[in-house]
Amino acid sequence: MNGDAALVLFSGGQDSTVCLAWALERYARVETVGFSYGQRHAAELGQRDKLRAGLANLKPEWHQRLGHDHMLELPELGRLSDTALTRDAEIVMTETGLPSTFVPGRNLLFFTYAAALAYRRGMRTLVGGMCETDFSGYPDCRNDTLQTLAKAISLGTDADFIIETPLMWIDKAGTWALAAELGGAALVELIVEDSHTCYLDVRSRRHDWGYGCGHCPACALRAKGWEKWQAAKKS
Ligand code: ZN
Repeated sequence: MNGDAALVLFSGGQDSTVCLAWALERYARVETVGFSYGQRHAAELGQRDKLRAGLANLKPEWHQRLGHDHMLELPELGRLSDTALTRDAEIVMTETGLPSTFVPGRNLLFFTYAAALAYRRGMRTLVGGMCETDFSGYPDCRNDTLQTLAKAISLGTDADFIIETPLMWIDKAGTWALAAELGGAALVELIVEDSHTCYLDVRSRRHDWGYGCGHCPACALRAKGWEKWQAAKKS
């Protein structure tokens, strides 16, 4: 078993891009997995290839370590988040900062699928960009949830799985700072240019912190983190 390999849950958003850089800095072999389920914010998935290529260009060792990309189709998740099954539920932004189409427990499903894939690929470390700090109380982003899940997966596969969440205890300003620490200005620029977080899929409007509508909860969070990081750099 290769303890020096990791599978990163990689959506093409800011958080998972920083996690991928974090993993490339630490593991000899890094593979990525994305989930396609007909999500509304599909723009971020379209950025994955560009980001992977961009990261591989940043450092020779990252180029060497970055391995396969996997895309898993989970159409049932799309059915659960939208359309027929939940037609009567109104689509709104909830106080958690996520659209109401968000599937409860989604990260449990993602990590379980990722573990099945990792198992077959000879990897036991899973990396995800979940964070308690910004989505306070969102239950499937909690450290307790994910560490308990890692235990359940380990028991259920009779293998020692580890779930790493490098962003768990930092805020969005901290995520920008971590990007700068890992890959300098070039990584920050890559994230600004090519990572996508906006729930409304807007890529026609460019801000200092990247592309997006500028108003949805994901844009607001990203912008706020950027401003806080900029202010911290000056002080
Ligand atoms: Zn937006």
